[in-house]
Amino acid sequence: MTKPITFIFLGPPGSGKGTQAQILADELDILHISTGEILRQAIADRTPLGEKAQSYMDRGELVPDELLLDLIQERLTHPDASKGWILDGFPRNVAQASFLDRLLEKIELAADHIINLAVPAETLVERLLSRGRKDDSEDTIRRRLVVYEEQTAPVIDYYQQQGKLATVDGDRHPEAVTQSLKEMISVRP
Ligand code: AMP
Repeated sequence: MTKPITFIFLGPPGSGKGTQAQILADELDILHISTGEILRQAIADRTPLGEKAQSYMDRGELVPDELLLDLIQERLTHPDASKGWILDGFPRNVAQASFLDRLLEKIELAADHIINLAVPAETLVERLLSRGRKDDSEDTIRRRLVVYEEQTAPVIDYYQQQGKLATVDGDRHPEAVTQSLKEMISVRP
């Protein structure tokens, strides 16, 4: 079996990482694992996970780590992950990043590409306000951006210190961003 290809997509809310992760996952025929999507689905399905997560998400806070760690382990070790995956929205804090390091070591995998989609703050608010998701009210957006700065931005430093981070300018037309991502991994556009 060929070696899986694995990605971690980092970037603030509104950076377009979900859109880009989906495009690249389709292109490479690998899994797109979005913890935000998994949680939104759990809320829609009224599962115990959804019930526990909802109030945090509505407020723009991170859900507690313990709601996600087993879930990530289960997703990454599932047979359908054998071709590869893109993690979108995880890790969201340094504790999750170090959990992921340990998990990947245990399953003898490494993240091949850790990509930070960089977008300036003023563009983010504009984009999020026009998106219209349930957790995209102005107050929640502002809280999500603060939570990002406080808890998620340190994950960028964490990977930078490991010398593994690649930054892509996300403040461009989506197609230009996709093009850069494909060039980075040498997939012919
Ligand atoms: P997203 O779709 O990635 O913007 O995530 C939407 C919301 O889901 C976030 O604001 C958090 O409340 C929650 N969430 C998603 N991923 C995580 C994670 N890795 N850790 C904690 N909360 C998360």
